[in-house]
Amino acid sequence: MGLLAFSPGFATGTPKEIKPTRRKLQPGGIQSPDKPISGAIDAHCHLDFKQFNKDRQEILDSARRSGIAHMINSGVDLSTNSRSLELSAKYDFISATVGLSPNTLESIREPELDMLLRQIEENADRAVGIGEAGLDYYHCKDAAGRRRQAEVFRRVIDLARSLDKPLVIHSRDAEQPALDMVKHLDKVVFHCYSGSLSTMKEALDRGYYISLATNVCRSGRHQILARNVSLERLMVETDSPFLSPRGGRNEPSFVLDSIRLISRIRGMEPQELARITAENTKRIYNIRSSTLP
Ligand SMILES: [Zn+2]
Repeated sequence: MGLLAFSPGFATGTPKEIKPTRRKLQPGGIQSPDKPISGAIDAHCHLDFKQFNKDRQEILDSARRSGIAHMINSGVDLSTNSRSLELSAKYDFISATVGLSPNTLESIREPELDMLLRQIEENADRAVGIGEAGLDYYHCKDAAGRRRQAEVFRRVIDLARSLDKPLVIHSRDAEQPALDMVKHLDKVVFHCYSGSLSTMKEALDRGYYISLATNVCRSGRHQILARNVSLERLMVETDSPFLSPRGGRNEPSFVLDSIRLISRIRGMEPQELARITAENTKRIYNIRSSTLP
């Protein structure tokens, strides 16, 4: 979950907000309808969330038609981990990660926490990564809450290390502390990265991956990150149903908006950027799928 996760009112977007946006626009972005793109990957989304209950299959079909070859669906708690694994079992173009979002901790007590960590461990072989997990100082302002986030994050980090799986980090207003906690790991993805340029550079120097979400289309600060990120460590994601570049509900095909924008910033062909970001995603998550070139 990214920036707008848990924002009041956002997650419960009414159909009125959703339908006109999606119906009016061609999948893949009428803003730049010039050339089709193929083989792209949405490196982080939540297609199991209730916002897709009415039209999940339609959204998946639209993504596939638009040129999205693969999607990574991330769990944030017990039920979304299960549903992510179910989606990846059902569709060969979806892979799952299983995690424990810092934003779910307030409602979780110790027995459920143990259950969650056990669920992650027991299902790791069906997942391509561990996460999202991390630190969220934007939503949690008090010292005790932040200490608990760090304690739980430490346990997830230990799991990712012992399972030898990539760790998917959720960090908000806490990118540097999160980075400081994972420096002994080799395989790390900063999902929906929104931190400083200097922390990003430090993460890149360590060989970690930076995943930029579709809010890059609306944020000058994120566009500066896009200009400076190393292409060989860049991934693109929607964080659907959040962070839509078009307002309303986000969906995987809208990752093409980011690809078109970032390719313009970097002075390259959108198809080339789609290929590079897909290669990066396949490499870190070790994805081999019949849906991918
Ligand atoms: Zn997410």
